[in-house]
Amino acid sequence: MCQDCDFRSGLFAHGLLIETGVEGLYGRSGEFEDVVNRFDALITSFGGGDNPEVVRFPPGMNRALFEKSGYLKSFPNLAGTIHAFNGNDRDHAALLDKLAAGEDWTLGQEATDVVLAPAACYPLYPTVAKRGPLPDNGRLYDLQSYCFRREPSREMTRMQMFRMREYVRIGTPEQVTEFRQLWLDRGRELISRLGVPFDVDVANDPFFGRAGRMLANNQRDQKLKFELLIPVESVEKPTACLSFNYHQDHFGGLWGIQTSTGEVAHTACVGFGMERVALALFKHHGFDTKEWPAPVRKALWG
Ligand code: AMP
Ligand code: ZN
Repeated sequence: MCQDCDFRSGLFAHGLLIETGVEGLYGRSGEFEDVVNRFDALITSFGGGDNPEVVRFPPGMNRALFEKSGYLKSFPNLAGTIHAFNGNDRDHAALLDKLAAGEDWTLGQEATDVVLAPAACYPLYPTVAKRGPLPDNGRLYDLQSYCFRREPSREMTRMQMFRMREYVRIGTPEQVTEFRQLWLDRGRELISRLGVPFDVDVANDPFFGRAGRMLANNQRDQKLKFELLIPVESVEKPTACLSFNYHQDHFGGLWGIQTSTGEVAHTACVGFGMERVALALFKHHGFDTKEWPAPVRKALWG
């Protein structure tokens, strides 16, 4: 590891991440991806035995469903929409003229029916509702997706596009709270194997604006969100690398998901920040994976 360069420039210098000119948007090297994939497999070794349904959505989601999800009420600043050209030859010529003149060519772009997924689980709930009432046992899903959040930052752990692996439990309040407790325990054990320091604490989502402060306080008071934090950028402000969320009947009510006995379903999810955990490993064990401590290498590569 080079002694005199900070974490960010070290990651670039070692070729693990590749600059694109946009903060929070990076290329990944084969070595970085190998760590992400090995961590992915480690997660499966903890959760695969529960026989979740594996579903993969693309990083774009249905705009109408996104609007209904309520995301814009809570996080308007983080959302990303996809706009596209929808004109004729004349509009095309105008676009090229603006581009050549260095003017804003994007004003002519129109919103499409696709927005960027802010979390892996957002596209899931409406599809579950469509399947009708839940079986007695509820449902369990395994998701992974690239997600977008408009939070450009020089901190490498705060990306605009990053991957989130999730397990999502949908069922009765008992089934769902048991799931979350199980993953609070498993999450601790899983990260212990990676030889990095961590802590688990109550947390809140970054709800927008004045009304958001109340939502955040309420979420904390009711202990609806926990995070597993690892010091990566700094010891004073450790980074949330896993999160454990209990949504109560919010999504069940919104989308009309029913349990087998006709009650509104409750939901919970555990989310793994794939890049954040990889970055925590590089931070604590160095930029060369071959030099990582033997137990950590064993946990990941077997
Ligand atoms: P959240 O829905 O905010 O709890 O996010 C789920 C997980 O995704 C978090 O625990 C983080 O590990 C990861 N995550 C959230 N935001 C970012 C980001 N901007 N860059 C990288 N990872 C993120
Ligand atoms: Zn989720």
